[in-house]
Amino acid sequence: MTLLTYKDRPVEIAPGETVLDALLRAGVEASYSCRSGNCQTCLHRAVEGTPPAESQKGLTDAQKALGFFLPCICEPTSPLVIAPPDDAGAAMEATVREITPLTDDVVRLRIETANFAYRSGQFLELIAGDDLRRHYSLASHPEEDPFLEMHIRLHPNGRMSRYVRETLVAGQKLHFAGPRGTCFYEGVDADQPLTLIGAGTGLAPLYGVLRDALRQGHRGPIRLYHGARERKGLYLTDELQALAKARANVEYIPATLDLGANVAALALEAEAPRAAHSAFFLCGDDALVNRLKRDLFMSGASLKAIRSDAFTPAA
Ligand SMILES: Cc1cc2nc3c(=O)[nH]c(=O)nc-3n(C[C@H](O)[C@H](O)[C@H](O)COP(=O)(O)OP(=O)(O)OC[C@H]3O[C@@H](n4cnc5c(N)ncnc54)[C@H](O)[C@@H]3O)c2cc1C
Repeated sequence: MTLLTYKDRPVEIAPGETVLDALLRAGVEASYSCRSGNCQTCLHRAVEGTPPAESQKGLTDAQKALGFFLPCICEPTSPLVIAPPDDAGAAMEATVREITPLTDDVVRLRIETANFAYRSGQFLELIAGDDLRRHYSLASHPEEDPFLEMHIRLHPNGRMSRYVRETLVAGQKLHFAGPRGTCFYEGVDADQPLTLIGAGTGLAPLYGVLRDALRQGHRGPIRLYHGARERKGLYLTDELQALAKARANVEYIPATLDLGANVAALALEAEAPRAAHSAFFLCGDDALVNRLKRDLFMSGASLKAIRSDAFTPAA
């Protein structure tokens, strides 16, 4: 049986040999430096199989959950199919199931594809032609939803926005790559306060993380802050209010500027006193995410306890 497969190619690995040594001997130009599991230069990902726990030392819980490991200290005892860390795999095909408006300028896109493993809160790269690729986060849950769901803001001059608005219809084929990112529920203590803060379509990954946390039995208080410029910019309000009513530990806190509430200021004021004990997920506008990250850290939050995805424009 082949113990090691790299990019569809079997790689011989001798007993007692590390994955890094086997790759180099096979002529793979793998990056490395310390050779002792400290610098993480050689980081790779197991896309099939489980790397030995010793080969994941020093990695974050999210990285471990995604199968990342250090080839320089990895001596596998069971078969592994591995890939470079940034290799999200080849483009895959999906069928558009639904495009429906959530607000005046945000649409919900649901697509269907077979055998796609992901964690709620990770993001995909939607592909529309050779030079048009954009990132969108996943609001769906792999065990609860038979589709992948994204919330897409339609920017007036956006190229992907135009494609989604003018070209995509239900039944059409679409390509995407991924999943990517570590903004998902992992390594959080089930009794810890869990705070989710986002604005606009930043709600997409937070909605996924919230549902995943509940499914995984999170017992601590969960607060979801969702900000928008105007009241009409909020969405999923009925679903979130219903969820907060049904679950004693969930609180939904919408904040809109037209009603005088700035989501960052509101969340910071309430969360700063308990920041040192909480886990945070911050998503959406990059200025908002970076400001909150800095201010929560200054209030005592550990950087390890803050997961974030800043929605930086591609252009
Ligand atoms: C990890 C990650 C996850 C993301 N998830 C989502 C998501 O779930 N939903 C979502 O709607 N977006 C998300 N984004 C942002 C999205 O990928 C970008 O906004 C993208 O550039 C939009 O593509 P477009 O072709 O429509 O506009 P572009 O052609 O890229 O840009 C057109 C114009 O709009 C402006 N613009 C574009 N995006 C933004 C922005 N975010 N803020 C301010 N101005 C902007 C540009 O500066 C430009 O002037 C994510 C980004 C990242 C990095």
